[in-house]
Amino acid sequence: MFSSKEEFKEAFAKNLESETGKTIEQATEQDAYHVLSQMVRGRLVQKWKETEQSYQAAGKKQVYYFSMEFLMGRLLGNNLLNMGALNVVEEGLIDLGLTLPILEESEADAGLGNGGLGRLAACFLDSLASLGLAGHGVGLRYRNGMFTQRFVNGYQVELPDHWLEDGYAWEVRREEEAIEVSFGGEIESVEDKNGDLHFTYKNSQRVRAVPYDIPVVGDQEKAVNTLRLWSAEPTEEDLLAKAQIEQAYGNYIGHQRHLEEITSFLYPDDSNEEGKKLRLKQEYFLVSAGLQNIVQKYKDLDLPWSDFSKRIALHINDTHPALIVPELMRILMDVEGLGWEEAWTITQSSVSYTNHTTLSEALETWPVEVIRTLLPRIFMIIEEINERFCQSLWEQDPGDFDRIAKLAIIADGNVKMAHLSIVGSHSVNGVARLHTEILKNREMKHFYEAFPERFNNKTNGITHRRWLLHANPSLAELITNTVGEEWKREPRLMKQLLSYREDGAFLDELHHIKQHNKENLAQWIEKDHGISIDPNSIFDVHIKRLHGYKRQLLNALHIMHLYNELKANPGIDMTPRTFIFGAKAAPGYYFAKKVIKLINTIAEVVNQDPVTKDTIKVVFMEDYSVSLAEKIIPATNVSEQISTASKEASGTGNMKLMMNGAITLGTMDGANVEIHEEVGNDAIYTFGLSSEEVLSYYHTGAYDAKEMYEGDQRIRRVVDQLFHYSPFSKGDTTFHELYHALVTNNDEYFLLKDFNSYVEAQKEISHDYANRRKWNEMSLMNIAHSGRFSSDYTIENYANEIWNMSGAKLLNG
Ligand SMILES: *Cc1c(COP(=O)(O)O)cnc(C)c1O
Repeated sequence: MFSSKEEFKEAFAKNLESETGKTIEQATEQDAYHVLSQMVRGRLVQKWKETEQSYQAAGKKQVYYFSMEFLMGRLLGNNLLNMGALNVVEEGLIDLGLTLPILEESEADAGLGNGGLGRLAACFLDSLASLGLAGHGVGLRYRNGMFTQRFVNGYQVELPDHWLEDGYAWEVRREEEAIEVSFGGEIESVEDKNGDLHFTYKNSQRVRAVPYDIPVVGDQEKAVNTLRLWSAEPTEEDLLAKAQIEQAYGNYIGHQRHLEEITSFLYPDDSNEEGKKLRLKQEYFLVSAGLQNIVQKYKDLDLPWSDFSKRIALHINDTHPALIVPELMRILMDVEGLGWEEAWTITQSSVSYTNHTTLSEALETWPVEVIRTLLPRIFMIIEEINERFCQSLWEQDPGDFDRIAKLAIIADGNVKMAHLSIVGSHSVNGVARLHTEILKNREMKHFYEAFPERFNNKTNGITHRRWLLHANPSLAELITNTVGEEWKREPRLMKQLLSYREDGAFLDELHHIKQHNKENLAQWIEKDHGISIDPNSIFDVHIKRLHGYKRQLLNALHIMHLYNELKANPGIDMTPRTFIFGAKAAPGYYFAKKVIKLINTIAEVVNQDPVTKDTIKVVFMEDYSVSLAEKIIPATNVSEQISTASKEASGTGNMKLMMNGAITLGTMDGANVEIHEEVGNDAIYTFGLSSEEVLSYYHTGAYDAKEMYEGDQRIRRVVDQLFHYSPFSKGDTTFHELYHALVTNNDEYFLLKDFNSYVEAQKEISHDYANRRKWNEMSLMNIAHSGRFSSDYTIENYANEIWNMSGAKLLNG
């Protein structure tokens, strides 16, 4: 039904009529979206089954990627793209008077993640399926995803995200695979005739876990893999008890809510561990439901336990699913009757772990008492793992108490989830070269010394299908017309574009595509925000979560500085700029919310002032999300990647923007280092302290922010504008905390230290942008070198070096 335009049109009209009783003319966009997504899903189902059967038949190793977050975004367009049906459908719809991109807007943006970590999981699923690898996602079906952001009076307000409200076209409920997860209660141990211990649970609370499957369509439908999301529901017993309880208390609803609470919402903080009991419940629910299901399927194969890790790889995306280690031990020992040694070998050889951060406030720990009461048997197993681990350290190095204290899994009444993850895995990876080096040489130095062979780097990547082919079809088409089709399967071939560096006509084409994308974004901003921006200005974009270390405040201070300059010398020559922001702040992150208010205030001031409004514009777009990113990125000239060096583990926004021809303005942090290595000195603007310098300042405490404040008039001026009367503060105390963070509390993230080099780099950009030829050449360099950051390569490396999926590349070849 998607093989020719005519066939599609006919099938579409027929389905529309039978499903909605309407003609094309009568149908709403929602109707049309609904019908189209059902048609796509219908066609996928067959391929989905076939994929599973072929994996079974070939005895292929299956990878399960456990993640608390999957930031999928919308699926219709990407599914059509990967099915090779995009053009037929797009053109067919045009004939019928409909526009695919508008229909796509009817789909809820599946925002089951906070930011980079969840989006990485989504890109990885796309690459796994596109490489024909048997890799599946395991996550939670939160009924409320990432909150919707609105601005009221310049402040962030959070609205709940009811993404399932109108039904979700892509999920399939698998009632028959529901299982139960137990919490709390007491453990009783009974010794049998042979002296083996058996554990039974008393008074534990059981919750039903029901899987919902979402198909993950690979490129050319090579494979349709599965994202399995677990939903918490009352058990059958609960339902039977319902009548009684209702009669007795009339409060069954409250009880049911309590059980369903586990998957009711996503924790909206990506860099601070909440330490709330409900969060731990979510983590164990994910791990236990996911693992019980996987072990059951393995048992259906009738293979010996010794083959488990040859057939199954279990990956944990950060430490949130770290309970996979004790839970797999529990299932293998308590349910399947294996001994400790055998169970431990299986666990360690199946589990691998990705570390995403060295920020100490983000490292996950749980008070012993919380784990003991919520998960009594799991806690016993963690204690035993810790005992044995500390024992082995002692045997290696008797008497070194210090080392044991540093590496122990349980210390000071807390369970350290990163330690549990490292001890229980055969592989630990960082997400960019610099990040992995910092892990090995600093943060996890002692573990690295104990198990050097476990540590490895896997620099993050992004799927070029969503972020280039789908988000920026005109650029993709230009690339195809220039170097042929092959780059789509082998993105490194984009390097062939380098031979057009000197080709004026080609550079002009690039320019026109960028201009066209900028005009589209400008129209959209005008319509949605009522702000008119100039497509000929530099589109300078800072989109990512709002956080101190990501330094949106540095960007804001620079804009205030430009404002001051313009006001003092209205005649100065300055290339017009549009500063575009997109960022959500964690609801409890007070500082971050103040930065949002500041940027909105700056926008109000500079966008109105007759002296500045034609030279600088500031737009803070509400509700940054995958869909919004797809609109902004193709229209970007400058990509702000200005984190305090050493703090951003990798970044992936930097890669998306580079791939769309934006020039990076960045610190030597995370994957910026590798972007710099790819494009060379001439197509990136770097500035600021190095990670070595930052870490050494932290170590010595030698940084003095007051010195910066007192020694630089420009700095003093903008910082004072936060505290004293200014066009921004209007005499209010709103921004006093920001002032204190910078001056009184010694500027934790080195904004003032990096201010001068940032201003200088920005000046250089203004100057270079005026040289259109030079700028377009830099843009070309970035696109041409971006292939390396396709997540297809990242996943190939995971498959070969961590998951031991032999033949990964063969199938692809
Ligand atoms: C890519 C992406 C991120 C990650 O951005 P960074 O700049 O790497 O922090 C966050 N949110 C969304 C919606 C994204 O698409």
